[in-house]
Amino acid sequence: SKRMGRGRFTYYDASLNPAQDRAIQLERQLPKAIDNDELVLHFQPKVNLANYRISGMEALVRWQHPEFGLVYPNDFIAMAEESGLIVALGDWVMKACCAQQARWKAQGIPLVPLAFNVSPMQLRDGSLATKIMQLLHDHGLSPGDLELEITESCLVEPIGQAIKVLEDLRKLGIRIGLDDFGSGFSSLSQIRDLPISTIKIDRSFINGIRSKTDVGVIVTSIITLAHGLQMRVVAEGVELMDQLVQLKMAGCDEVQGYFLSRPVPSAEAQKLLIQATII
Ligand code: C2E
Ligand code: CA
Ligand code: CA
Ligand code: CA
Repeated sequence: SKRMGRGRFTYYDASLNPAQDRAIQLERQLPKAIDNDELVLHFQPKVNLANYRISGMEALVRWQHPEFGLVYPNDFIAMAEESGLIVALGDWVMKACCAQQARWKAQGIPLVPLAFNVSPMQLRDGSLATKIMQLLHDHGLSPGDLELEITESCLVEPIGQAIKVLEDLRKLGIRIGLDDFGSGFSSLSQIRDLPISTIKIDRSFINGIRSKTDVGVIVTSIITLAHGLQMRVVAEGVELMDQLVQLKMAGCDEVQGYFLSRPVPSAEAQKLLIQATII
C-alpha cells in the first residue's frame, strides 16, 4: 500500500489503474470497432516547396470510440500489430482511402496521391499488391492516386518477401515512401536498391533545426544522398516558418507538419484540396 494524503491508504492490489483498464478495453473492442466502422481517417497535406502547392495527403487513422472519444493510433496500432489485427485494420484503411479518393474524384476535386501507412506484417502477407490493384479497380482509380509509407521496420530480415511486394507495387506504378528516415539503423546505401521513390526525414531531425542559417549536417547529407539516388525528400514535423525556409534553402522537395496543417477530417481536407495551396 502507498500513503496518500493524511492517514488515507490506497491499496494497489489486483485492480487495474484507469490507463491499464482503458488499454485492455481498447484491445478487446478493436475487432468490433473495425467491423462497425468506428475508425476514421484524418488527412494531413504535404506541400511542394517549388510552388507551395499541395502535392499529396497522408491518411492517419483514428478511432472514434463511443466512450473514450477520439483515440489516436499510438494507443492501438502497436496492440494491433501484436495481435495480428493490423492486417484487417490495414485493409480497412486502404479501402477507406480508395473510397475517399473516389468520392473526391466524383466531385471533380483534383486528386493528389493519398499516402497510407503500412505495417511490416502487411508486407509479409504477400497478397498486398493484389489487394491494392483490386481496390483501385473497384473504385475506378489509378496507381498514381495512392502511395505507401513504410518504415525501416518493414525492411528487417527476412526481407525477401517484403522486397518482392514492394517491387510488384512499384512496377504497377504505386509510389513508395520510406517513413521516419534516420530514426532507425538503415543507411541510404542499404536502401539504394529498394524501389523507394521518397524519403521522409524523421521529425526528430526537423525538430532540431534551431539555427536561422543552417539545417545541420545530417539533414543536408540526407537530402544530398537521396537526390543522388533519384529519390525525393519530404521533411515531416515542420512546426516553424524558420524550419520551412531552411529546408527550402537546403533543397528539400516537400514539407509536412503543423506549420502547414494538422491532420484534419475529410471535409477540411477537401477544402484544402480545392484551395490547392496553404501558404
Ligand atoms: P507517422 O506515420 O510518422 O505520422 C506522423 C505523425 O506525426 C502523426 O501522428 C501526425 O499527426 C504527427 N505530426 C504531423 N505533423 C506534426 C508536427 O508538426 N509536429 C508533431 N509533433 N507531430 C506531427 P498520429 O496521427 O498520431 O500517428 C502516429 C503514428 O501512428 C504514425 O506516425 C504511424 O506510424 C501510425 N499510424 C497512423 N495511421 C496508421 C495506419 O493507418 N496504419 C498504420 N500501420 N500505422 C498508422
Ligand atoms: Ca507516415
Ligand atoms: Ca513519420
Ligand atoms: Ca512514426
